Amino acid sequence: MTLPALPPESAPLLSVVVPVYNEEDGLAALFARLYPALDALGLRYELIFINDGSSDRSAALLAAQFRARPDVTRVILFSANYGQHAAIMAGFERARGEITVTLDADLQNPPEEIGNLVTKMQEGYDYVGTIRRQRQDSWFRRHASRAMNRLRESITHIEMTDQGCMLRAYGRNVIDAINQCQEINTFIPALAYTFASKPVEIEVGHAEREAGESKYSLYSLIRLNFDLVTGFSLMPLQAFSFMGIFLSICSALFVAYLAIRRLVIGPEAEGLFTLFGIAFFLIGVLLFGIGLLGEYIGRIYQEVRRRPRYTIQAVLEEKAPS
Ligand code: UDP
Ligand code: MG
Repeated sequence: MTLPALPPESAPLLSVVVPVYNEEDGLAALFARLYPALDALGLRYELIFINDGSSDRSAALLAAQFRARPDVTRVILFSANYGQHAAIMAGFERARGEITVTLDADLQNPPEEIGNLVTKMQEGYDYVGTIRRQRQDSWFRRHASRAMNRLRESITHIEMTDQGCMLRAYGRNVIDAINQCQEINTFIPALAYTFASKPVEIEVGHAEREAGESKYSLYSLIRLNFDLVTGFSLMPLQAFSFMGIFLSICSALFVAYLAIRRLVIGPEAEGLFTLFGIAFFLIGVLLFGIGLLGEYIGRIYQEVRRRPRYTIQAVLEEKAPS
């Protein structure tokens, strides 16, 4: 069943935001499942695709899809690749729905689950997180993210069973709050969690990537997790200060001990390598501390530059957003 075209005055209830980066092989399959799934819900919706500066045919495919379903489709074309979270932010700024759902373009999250998220939201929650029932990713990805989850939980107040799954629903209040945030690098599910007053988590299915490859290299995954830690907590800095105090006390005691030995026993050359070992360890700790400081300073630097988070080449939509 397809719904009639939106009357111009009525705002959609549901906005679905989909970031797209070099997904030409998977887009046809996505459209073929996403539109019927949303039509079947029987509510007014809009689909916002953000082309994150793809270098393949994704932009052309999205434009064609806009022409096929202009009643419910909006396409934002970025002029360069700004990353998944910038793309989602651009979608959030334009989303008109009471409920906004984010979805990856690679069909790893089944679009058929959107209905369950909407049902949960209608029960009065303002943020629906998801847990992948049987995660279909590599062994390394699964274990790395389990370790990261644990670390994040211990240093921030954000409780998310499964931080990596982007199929999530956000209430209007949460979207409005996120839209007021000007941070350059952030992690949207965590940001949303800090604004939600009644969050809940549900289980959803997870499939292997339909086509193409993961757009996240190991490096960008590590960066994302740095953003998550430094963007939401000062705990690493504070822990480091404490470690500094502890090590200073130990070193002071050690120096006193060596001084006493020097006076009592006289000059000694033994234990030279132990001393080196200790010095190397302390240098390592120091470098780690400088790196940690650098992470925070880098964030501050990005923020004070106040560069736009993204630039838009074109927006395809039927009418100007209200
Ligand atoms: N994506 C994006 N910009 C990027 C990287 C990814 O918009 O720079 C999109 C991508 O097209 C997909 C989603 O973000 O819709 C998740 O990417 P991917 O599936 O590669 O990540 P993974 O599932 O491996 O974490
Ligand atoms: Mg994926």
